[in-house]
Amino acid sequence: MIPGARLILLGRQGAGKGTQCVRLSRHFVVPHISTGDMLRAAVREGTELGIMAKQVMDQGNLVGDEIMVGIVRERLSQADAVGRGYILDGFPRTVPQAVALDDITSQLPLDAVLDLDVPREMVLERLSARRVCRDCGTNYVASGTEKSPWICEVCGGDVMHRDDDTPAAIDHRLDLYEQQTSPLIEYYREQGRLVVIDGVATPDEVFRRLTSAVDSMRRPS
Ligand code: ADP
Ligand code: ZN
Repeated sequence: MIPGARLILLGRQGAGKGTQCVRLSRHFVVPHISTGDMLRAAVREGTELGIMAKQVMDQGNLVGDEIMVGIVRERLSQADAVGRGYILDGFPRTVPQAVALDDITSQLPLDAVLDLDVPREMVLERLSARRVCRDCGTNYVASGTEKSPWICEVCGGDVMHRDDDTPAAIDHRLDLYEQQTSPLIEYYREQGRLVVIDGVATPDEVFRRLTSAVDSMRRPS
C-alpha cells in the first residue's frame, strides 16, 4: 500500500460513508475531511457560520455553494492535505462545488472518486437508527437496548440523535441527493475518475472493495 491519496467518497446519506471514511483515512494515513463534521463543530462553537448553518441543516437543506467552497479551499490548503492528501466526505454535493473543486485541485488532482452505492430503500431504516457522538462525531447504530445516557466509547462524549435525523429532514435530504448530488456521478464518470462500489455488504467487505478500487485506480493496468 502506498500512503497518501486524494479521494472523494460519494454516496447517499446512510450508506455508511462516514464509517468507511474513518477507516480509509487510517489506511491511507490521510485526514478525513467531512464538511458535515466541520459545520457541526461550527454549530457547537456558536460561530457566525455555525448559527447560520444550524438553521439550514435542521431543515435538511444545503448550505450555500460559495460558503462551502471557501471552507474546503481553506482546509485543503493546509499542510497535511497538501502533503499527504485527504478523503473528502460530504463534498462536493452540487455540480458548482465539483467545478470549484476541479480548480482547487488543478495542481494535485484527485486519485479517485468512489461512489458508495446503496439503494434509497435501504438507507431509510439505517438513518432513523443513526446516533452520533456530540463531541467527536463517531457514528453509532441504535438497537434500542442502549443505556441512557449513552456514552461514546471513543471519547466519552454524549451519543445523541442528530437534530437533522428527523423523518421529514431525512426525506428531504434524500430528495436533494437525487436532484443535486447524483449528477456528480456522471460528472466524474466523464472525467474517468469514477468507481462505483456496491455498498450492500458487510462493512469489512465494503472496505476491502474500496481499498482495492483505489489501488487499481493508482496502478492502471
Ligand atoms: P448527511 O450526509 O447525513 O446529510 P452530513 O453530515 O454530510 O450529513 O451533512 C449534514 C448537513 O450539513 C447537510 O444536510 C447540509 O445541510 C450541510 N452540508 C454538509 N456538507 C455540505 C456541502 N458540501 N454543501 C452544502 N451543505 C452541506
Ligand atoms: Zn466521541
